[in-house]
Amino acid sequence: MSTLRFYALKESLKRKPLTINEDHRRSEIFGSNVFNETAMRQYLSKHALNGILQAVEKGTKIDRVTAEHISTGMKEWAIAKGATHYTHWFQPLTGATAEKHDAFFETIEGGLAIERFDGSQLVQQEPDASSFPHGGIRNTFEARGYTAWDPTSPAFIYGTTLCIPTVFVAYTGEALDYKTPLLRALQSVDSAATAVCKYFDKNVRKVSASLGWEQEYFLIDNALAASRPDIVLTGRTLLGHSPAKGQQLDDHYFGTIPARAMAFMRDLEHECMLLGIPAKTRHNEVAPNQFELAPIYEEANLAVDHNSLLMDIMQKVAKRHNFLVLMHEKPFAGVNGSGKHNNWSLSTDTGVNLLSPGKTPMSNLQFLTFFINTIKAVLTYEELLRAAIASASNDHRLGANEAPPAIISVFIGEQLTNVLQELESVTKGKLSPKEKTDLKLNVVGKIPEILLDNTDRNRTSPFAFTGNKFEFRAVGSSANCANPMIVLNSIVAKQLIDFKIEVDDLIDKKSMKKDDAIFNVLREYIKDSKTILFEGNGYSDAWEKEAKKRGLSNNKTTPEALKIKIAKSAIDLFENIGVMNKIESEARYEIEIEEYILRIQIESRVLGDIARNHVVPTAVRYQNILIENVTGLKNIYGDKFKSLAQEQLTLIEEISGHIEAINSLVTDMIEARKLYNKQTDVNKKAKGYCEKVKPFFEKIRYHSDKLELMIDDELWPLTKYRELLFTN
Ligand code: ADP
Ligand code: MG
Repeated sequence: MSTLRFYALKESLKRKPLTINEDHRRSEIFGSNVFNETAMRQYLSKHALNGILQAVEKGTKIDRVTAEHISTGMKEWAIAKGATHYTHWFQPLTGATAEKHDAFFETIEGGLAIERFDGSQLVQQEPDASSFPHGGIRNTFEARGYTAWDPTSPAFIYGTTLCIPTVFVAYTGEALDYKTPLLRALQSVDSAATAVCKYFDKNVRKVSASLGWEQEYFLIDNALAASRPDIVLTGRTLLGHSPAKGQQLDDHYFGTIPARAMAFMRDLEHECMLLGIPAKTRHNEVAPNQFELAPIYEEANLAVDHNSLLMDIMQKVAKRHNFLVLMHEKPFAGVNGSGKHNNWSLSTDTGVNLLSPGKTPMSNLQFLTFFINTIKAVLTYEELLRAAIASASNDHRLGANEAPPAIISVFIGEQLTNVLQELESVTKGKLSPKEKTDLKLNVVGKIPEILLDNTDRNRTSPFAFTGNKFEFRAVGSSANCANPMIVLNSIVAKQLIDFKIEVDDLIDKKSMKKDDAIFNVLREYIKDSKTILFEGNGYSDAWEKEAKKRGLSNNKTTPEALKIKIAKSAIDLFENIGVMNKIESEARYEIEIEEYILRIQIESRVLGDIARNHVVPTAVRYQNILIENVTGLKNIYGDKFKSLAQEQLTLIEEISGHIEAINSLVTDMIEARKLYNKQTDVNKKAKGYCEKVKPFFEKIRYHSDKLELMIDDELWPLTKYRELLFTN
């Protein structure tokens, strides 16, 4: 066994679960490191508190004087909690979070020092924008960017730093982050949905989108992970034969959580509580050493921040427990990958979940309106929704027989399918009083009852209705939820705007009653929606054929999937509803396609390196041992040696074959890379990397995995799947 592999195994086997003291009730510590309303009431004047609350509820601006009061209160609170530094915490287009810490500490005249944090430091900062991806925005305009406080996501303390959630924009106003368009999309869906709500309830003033994500991940001992250059550099294994035992016994899912993992989870949940992340559910996932954490759902902007924060603190907590968290969508070939279901709904400031059937026929008509409009939005923009979850790593998961396919479809269950069928058969034009009563009593009126037993959940659907929310299941585990949330909320906003125009038209021009008009428009939508509704097995080949007939997109790779982002339809959509202008849309496309190229490039380099510097030399060494053995046998037995050394001779030849194959494949892969590195058109470059470089991965892996099975386990340098997956 190589020294590194030996050391890693030895270390990992020594580990004991850390003792975690839980001497507080979770409800008592929840949010204690968050500058939430309780803290604000204690540290802010009434005027300052109102300023923040108004900004959160109504989106009003906070003036300079008020900001000054808030910053003073925030500083006092943070210092009382032991904070020494502050940072503007933001999400640049790398998808990760960024922070630059500054001390409150400042010197003043006479060699004295004070703690200072004023309004302008709270409201705005100027990090150097040039080191973050900008997708050409910086080229067109200037390098500078600034971060600006987002009062709708509360400040929090992590370690000894006060973190202030902010947006990140260029000086010319273009968004350089995910949060800015997300906030705009949420605002857009708020105003469009509120307008539609007024048909049903005049008192509705605000509609908020909710998000409940479910984060899947792998926990790997960090010594074992460190012994694998592929895991360290790419977050996944590029080589490795599957173990004799994988997940086929189904003995991990919902099984007893291993003690070390449990200690990690409790520690992580403790951090979550302090930070106000409402962690609720934990369990084993399908694969060995795979787990899930899900919180109680929250307002979407906050939920997105909380997910980004969680992904960050998970790694930090994991370090204490000598674990590495793998958030990659497919860290192990042949083993279940990780996703991040995004549960989404809309709710009013009057406390109604618009995707939950109500108690009266009228409230159910409201439910159906939002339900059907969401389906219609997904139908119109299915390709854009697919693009929102595209990444080099998620490509391994989508359509790989364990996750939703790359085709977007909507599952609604048998009962709601029946409801839609009945609604579809309503008369075109004005409805007779009898028909209306009938509809209200027998169709719309019955929804809550039938939904109670609507338990059939189709696990193969990428976008499923699950009782009171839609669940977008195709999102990757390493993704920033902002991306899918921007798209989903934008397309629903656009759809609701269109819906209202159509309904108002029927009311004004055809002098229809409001209900008749709504039924009529919904009826047409239901007819269209048949293209996107699918209740069958999404993993089947039959569905691929069927979807093609229906004209649905099936973009299997990221370069293909991303194209729609710069299509006129997408640019117009975002521009019309004020979420992103053309420059912002194009910049995001460019950044994402570049990132794709870079990821494949890195994987290709790492693979070439491991194959040539780890695998081949090991194979040669083992082959030499065999040759020595055969020569020895020949010396002793003379001509008789052949019958005694048959196995060895075969192995020697086979090893040569695999070495030769690896060498020529790696050489060809490098040539392909060189060729596409010269390509200046990013689209062609991405296509080249996808179609001409990436296919070498599987081929090289095949030969290396074969060698792994032949070569003496003592010599094999790379920690094996069974060690990575079954040590805990
Ligand atoms: P699953 O069977 O997929 O695990 P759960 O019922 O456990 O589904 O819920 C998963 C997630 O959905 C949780 O994070 C939960 O908070 C969230 N969720 C529940 N209701 C809503 C809602 N109305 N809007 C958004 N998310 C919700
Ligand atoms: Mg789920």
